[in-house]
Amino acid sequence: TIAIMLFRRDLRLTDNTALAAACKTNARVLPLYIHADHEEAPWNAGAASHWWLHHSLEALQRRLRGCGANLHLLQGDTLHVLRNVIERSGAAAVYWNRRYEPAAVTRDTQIKAALREQGVAVHTYSANLWSEPWQVETKQGEPYRVFTPYWRNLRPSITVTPPLLEPIGIKWVELPAGLTLAALKLLPRIRWDEGFGDTWRPGEAGAQDALELFCDDAIVDYAAGRDLPARHGTSRLSPHLHFGEISPRQIHHAIHRHTQRVDTRRRPDIEPYLRELGWREFAYHLLYHFPRTTTESFNPRFANFPWAPTNDAQLMRWQQGRTGIPLVDAGMRELWHTGWMHNRVRMIVASFLTKNLRQHWSHGARWFWDTLVDADLANNTLGWQWVAGCGADAAPYFRVFNPVSQARKFDPEGTYLRRWLPELADLPVDLLHEPWHEPSVLKRSGYPSPMVDVRASREEALSAFQSWRGA
Ligand code: FAD
Repeated sequence: TIAIMLFRRDLRLTDNTALAAACKTNARVLPLYIHADHEEAPWNAGAASHWWLHHSLEALQRRLRGCGANLHLLQGDTLHVLRNVIERSGAAAVYWNRRYEPAAVTRDTQIKAALREQGVAVHTYSANLWSEPWQVETKQGEPYRVFTPYWRNLRPSITVTPPLLEPIGIKWVELPAGLTLAALKLLPRIRWDEGFGDTWRPGEAGAQDALELFCDDAIVDYAAGRDLPARHGTSRLSPHLHFGEISPRQIHHAIHRHTQRVDTRRRPDIEPYLRELGWREFAYHLLYHFPRTTTESFNPRFANFPWAPTNDAQLMRWQQGRTGIPLVDAGMRELWHTGWMHNRVRMIVASFLTKNLRQHWSHGARWFWDTLVDADLANNTLGWQWVAGCGADAAPYFRVFNPVSQARKFDPEGTYLRRWLPELADLPVDLLHEPWHEPSVLKRSGYPSPMVDVRASREEALSAFQSWRGA
């Protein structure tokens, strides 16, 4: 018999549950990828995600070719394309790993029903989370809304498990008339992506390299180092995780094995890192149980929150990294240049947009969606609403990050600021943090003066919040 392995957000051969299951049946396997961006609406992938997807598919094609297989690429409506491939190949079964975004859940449910009705078996698996979003629940049988009890419940069930190996000895099937990768037109026409190529290596091998680098280096000091944007202090696995080039199980297994080799007295504590992966898991739990939150605030009271009217000129300055607040601008430029931004800086630019400028969080979420290589509906929704104060288990609205004191605390030498704001690079550190104190500096460097006064705009946000809450 013939089985179709439908690759989606699981662009890897190792620890791929659906692929391993398809191979175990002794069926001949047809590896297929269907590009169906329109089915993701309203969260069709952005430009940076497309860049990553192109290179990740290229890497998967190479991996498969090395095993004597050909990744069949097609595009169109998934069900229609699948039916066509089933007819041409005579496949009797389809295998895929599950997705959890609302649009994907609805589509996959329909496809499963339609294929089963025509006598084709559909087998679906979990490959990218430690636990399915519906498996963790409160004593009352409800979904969690607060992270700490959620994690307390989930953590004991997470054990170090060896990942599944890459299947070997598979009989592959090839179909004629697939599309070329170029035909999917995923790369930008205007080449703004040079910084991406210098920063990233999409694909399964790139993910393994990033993991190894993290184990050899940053994990030792992760709990403190993860807050310093100038350092390579985090794993930078987020885009690899998003595209399923690596699984949490693989990461856990590798860092556990690595740290076991270290002398017990100097063995790093891996819990803070696992906890961050736990936030990712929590984000998927929320996404699955509260799908409306991808477009609405989790906290329904925020439906009538007095956000300022949309201000395109302000939004543009924020997007371009020209707000006149160094840490905000450095972060926005890092994002534009590399498709990634350090987590602490993400919180600060988000706080600046939603509090100092009082723009609706969805404007920020949209911009991140288009520009992040790790744009992920679960994590992005959680991140924005956490900062804006309207999410599940969010920071309270009145917690407004001060971008100047944050920069002094987490980038005391100004290394990160100098990297992304070359026009200010030779300033002494005090002036670098607050260049507006020396108007001649602004004039000479062309760096803008602050678009808002950080203190005054904070007070305005707090008083808007107080009067809304009072009402
Ligand atoms: P590490 O510190 O090495 O963490 C390991 C992994 O844990 C990450 O790859 C990620 O999968 C997960 N993780 C870490 N922190 C968080 C978190 N706070 N919430 C959920 N998962 C987390 N992350 C995305 O993957 N995609 C997004 O679109 C996204 N948007 C965000 C928007 C805002 C406003 C904020 C504040 C955060 C956002 N995050 C997002 C979370 C976080 O910033 C990134 O996951 C992290 O910076 C990725 O870098 P890393 O892989 O080096 O992280």
